[in-house]
Amino acid sequence: MEPMPQSPLIDGFGRRIRYLRLSVTDRCDLRCRYCMAERMAFLPKAEVLSLEELEAVADAFIARGVEKIRVTGGEPLVRRDVLQFMARMGRRLEKGDLKELALTTNATRLAAHAEGLAAAGVARVNVSLDTLDDAVFERLTRRNRLSDVLKGIDAAQAAGLAVKINTVALKGVNEHEIPSLIAWAHGHGMALTLIEAMPLGEIDEDRADHYLPLTAVRERLEQSWTLAPLMKSTGGPARYVRIEETGGELGLITPLTNNFCAGCNRVRVTCTGELYSCLGDDGKIDLRAALRGFAPARALDAALDRAMIMKPERHHFEIARGAAPSVARPMSMTGG
Ligand code: SAM
Ligand code: SF4
Repeated sequence: MEPMPQSPLIDGFGRRIRYLRLSVTDRCDLRCRYCMAERMAFLPKAEVLSLEELEAVADAFIARGVEKIRVTGGEPLVRRDVLQFMARMGRRLEKGDLKELALTTNATRLAAHAEGLAAAGVARVNVSLDTLDDAVFERLTRRNRLSDVLKGIDAAQAAGLAVKINTVALKGVNEHEIPSLIAWAHGHGMALTLIEAMPLGEIDEDRADHYLPLTAVRERLEQSWTLAPLMKSTGGPARYVRIEETGGELGLITPLTNNFCAGCNRVRVTCTGELYSCLGDDGKIDLRAALRGFAPARALDAALDRAMIMKPERHHFEIARGAAPSVARPMSMTGG
């Protein structure tokens, strides 16, 4: 049996926390309509944690048994010193303190960074891509960057990184493209995970117009493909199937139609050091105050204990016409 850290992070429902999603910026070079409004008020840079502070946060979690860190944002690759941070985290991998260092990106800047990420010890990147159609991409993200994204994916694969595609399923936007996106990803040796849009943050449109339950998508896929359930458990929210006709894996993340919180193993920290124990809850703990105050190591440790008490049993998301978002802060702020 694996040795346990001195005091592992276990919440009030007996769930062991082994996974940290760490946001390094809330800024982004895209404006995906389901994620952000066109005019976003970004956080003042002075409030954002320095590299040293991000490292101290990561170390506090690692000391309490966190084995996997996913760096995210906003768009993590728009932060100028992000590669330096990844390289420093890579040293924790070499020492064996950390088992996995991963990144979630929109891939617009991945071509320039793929080799650096691989050198830092990153083994896999999740690329968010909702369409392969230039016009749809531009309408959805409000930016004309699909060719950069595709170059980024190629560069990542050439650098030896395993790439997984994440796709938010959107009614009337990419609904009809989902089978071809899956076939494309599988044809390029990449797994693809579909995600239900979540009611997080104010956007410029009504989420009810584009919400697409994955129960409906799955039924449609089953009309032409054989979806064989895979028993693998990653401790994450996705349920996996293998599509026999393509030979590839499809993940389904269903925060609305099929709750998965019982197996939750993660918490999130924003780029300003706010610790959220649940994506769907406003409860937060200020790690920046702990970091910048007296006896930071002890204060951080105590903050992690408080987060374990605070973590709710589950999220409650609902998308209804005209309704306010279930949670006011967007995914780009919490760290997706
Ligand atoms: N910018 C990076 C990217 O897009 O990969 C990382 C941050 S982004 C917030 C992380 C993931 O959250 C993306 O896959 C995005 O599609 C997803 N996302 C953002 N807002 C969402 C929402 N309201 N519902 C579901 N997924 C969302
Ligand atoms: Fe940016 Fe990612 Fe949000 Fe799109 S989903 S706007 S790429 S943070």
